[in-house]
Amino acid sequence: MQTEPLTLDPFCYSEKFHRFITTLSEENFVISFDWVSWQNEANRFITYPELLTLADISTLQKLLTTHVRKERFCSGYMANMIENGHFLAILKRLQVIRTNIILEKTDISDESNMMQQIEIIQGDITQLQVDAIVNAANSSLLGGGGVDGAIHRAAGRELLEECRQLRRCETGEAKITKGYNLPAKWVIHTVGPVWKGGNYGEDELLASCYRHSLTLAEQYQIKTIAFPAISTGVYGFPMERASKIAIAEVHQFLHDHNSPEQVIFVCFGQSAYDCYLRVMQEFTEK
Ligand code: ADP
Repeated sequence: MQTEPLTLDPFCYSEKFHRFITTLSEENFVISFDWVSWQNEANRFITYPELLTLADISTLQKLLTTHVRKERFCSGYMANMIENGHFLAILKRLQVIRTNIILEKTDISDESNMMQQIEIIQGDITQLQVDAIVNAANSSLLGGGGVDGAIHRAAGRELLEECRQLRRCETGEAKITKGYNLPAKWVIHTVGPVWKGGNYGEDELLASCYRHSLTLAEQYQIKTIAFPAISTGVYGFPMERASKIAIAEVHQFLHDHNSPEQVIFVCFGQSAYDCYLRVMQEFTEK
């Protein structure tokens, strides 16, 4: 189908062009630059339109200005640029840049929202009013010392009964019971690795404890969950290394999932607390 060629009034006489230039100026598009070299530069983009896909915003501003100004000397030039799609290609590139800026902004706010979902406190995990607390259990699930002993004492004998029915839990895995006399509704029992120097898959097993516990929490629609520093007591995992793994795993899980809403790291004592805060600080600065 034959269409009428597009015509535009010459720039210097046209009201429309006058308004267009005014708008460009208001949006900072008309900027002073070396006209001759930019005319050559603009021609390069016409010859190789694929260059536009890499053009930054100031290049696009100069290009637009060059084309608009050229209309002053070559009547019909802009109409041609519109008709051959070059003008549209510039606008599309601007749109891509704009979308990327919006996406980057969204990423930053997502990231800070995610960090707000993580809290570090000092205290006794058995006292917390949360949906679930995590127990650093041993594979028999029949109670032990440290945080495990404290949780069983606070929850009462019924917890031991339910744990007995669960039989064992392998290292790196997790099982869930009710919280009984605890303020928390659920207890997620996970078995951390015993530290043997770091070459026996300890890091991955510890990471797996966090992942499996969070997966169970998600399945049970648990909104708030508190973790002790798994494996860092009797099992001897170095605190700094363990806290890096804990924070990285929780961060990754919250990035990939919508639940839980709040994760609390409960540090038993000042030095654990200081360590978690330091590691968290380093993590957010990355
Ligand atoms: P593991 O055998 O996995 O090392 P522990 O219970 O010995 O488990 O220690 C795990 C972490 O829990 C240690 O950092 C310890 O200081 C901490 N902890 C001990 N009791 C409590 C408690 N009541 N609340 C929170 N953390 C605790």
